[in-house]
Amino acid sequence: MNASGGWERLAPKLDATRRRVRSLEWEPARRNSFVTYTVERDSAYADLDGRRLLMMSGYSYLGLAGDERVVRAAQAAVELYGTGNHGVRALAGSIPLHEELEAEVARFAGRDRALVFGSGYAANVGTVGALVGAGDTVLIDKYDHASIVDGCRLSGATVTRFRHNDVDHLDRRLAAASPDGIRLVIVDSVYSMDGDIAPLPELRRVCDAHDALLMVDEAHALGVIGATGKGIEEHFGYTAKVDVKLGTLSKAIPSMGGWVAGPEELIGHLKYAARPFLFSAALGPAQTGAALESLRILQQEPERVTHIQEESARFRRTLNDGGMRTGDSETAVVPVIAGSDEAAYDYATACRAAGVIGLPVVTPAVPNDLARLRIAITARHTKADLDFAAEAFLKAAAECGLIPA
Ligand code: PMP
Repeated sequence: MNASGGWERLAPKLDATRRRVRSLEWEPARRNSFVTYTVERDSAYADLDGRRLLMMSGYSYLGLAGDERVVRAAQAAVELYGTGNHGVRALAGSIPLHEELEAEVARFAGRDRALVFGSGYAANVGTVGALVGAGDTVLIDKYDHASIVDGCRLSGATVTRFRHNDVDHLDRRLAAASPDGIRLVIVDSVYSMDGDIAPLPELRRVCDAHDALLMVDEAHALGVIGATGKGIEEHFGYTAKVDVKLGTLSKAIPSMGGWVAGPEELIGHLKYAARPFLFSAALGPAQTGAALESLRILQQEPERVTHIQEESARFRRTLNDGGMRTGDSETAVVPVIAGSDEAAYDYATACRAAGVIGLPVVTPAVPNDLARLRIAITARHTKADLDFAAEAFLKAAAECGLIPA
């Protein structure tokens, strides 16, 4: 590397990352991050180093990644509009597909209007920054996604964290918050590493008691919870209990992008005040077309949602009966707890040998000694796939000494 003084000062930081990665992935068989594999378009299998393995850590909950109709919609959008949008929408304008997608998202979310961003990350950072600033208070769950945390930091608001899903703690935090300014509470509706659900009715009650707005990130809820996959409000039997609803187009919807839905005035404000929207290029035609088609398919084929819900419950039961812990998961996100970071890597390696890909999530993304494989059940997984997977996860757990052999 270049020996200039600037690089020398940076070197300890780069070394620390290299050492940490090596401590877990010292041999090729243990490589579990940034793995390159080829996913089969019409199944849940992937090809890795010449072996056909069952992918159990993907995010395409509805099983629509690779769906012929979605692929065709992306191709048609490229044919019509080309591959890029030449910049930000405020200056370069929108294509009709952007507006069609926003109308569809708004309808799906049961809100007046919606706005799409370049990613879910950008949607969170932009929305938080446009809603609160110096003098305001934002209260976030300890397990909220990093993009919410980053949005809070950048906003300049006072940030307070409350214990995970602990509404009494939030209540006390709100009581102690500054009496002035805006109060914004932000939660994930389904937690990405745990698969548990935010207690919406209690959150709403506490927010109302303290004049706080409630913003919910539906990234892992859209297409996954609620009878027709509409997310947390449908799950609890409500229509509109959330003030600011937000999600991504990169998980159940197999594209890229993020969205926010809410009242007309809110969306009008975000268009001019959310910096990642205002200063970053528009969603590309292919992504927009794919997202729109996927959202339509989700509504036409609710059986995909039912499959995810029934099969996730069955999968968790089988693992629990076999002695493996899956935390408080109630959804398609199933954490299979291994313990230490090392144990999670050993377990992932053993699972791969048994024919399944389960990717490890380690500290600091999860608490000490709760490192896990983060499994996601999708509509692509058949019953037979999931029987095979459960057997492989239990066999590998026994080999690793996580359960009796
Ligand atoms: N929110 C949550 C809860 C997420 O899990 C993620 C992605 N992991 C995001 C937001 C960011 O979405 P995207 O990947 O589309 O930027």
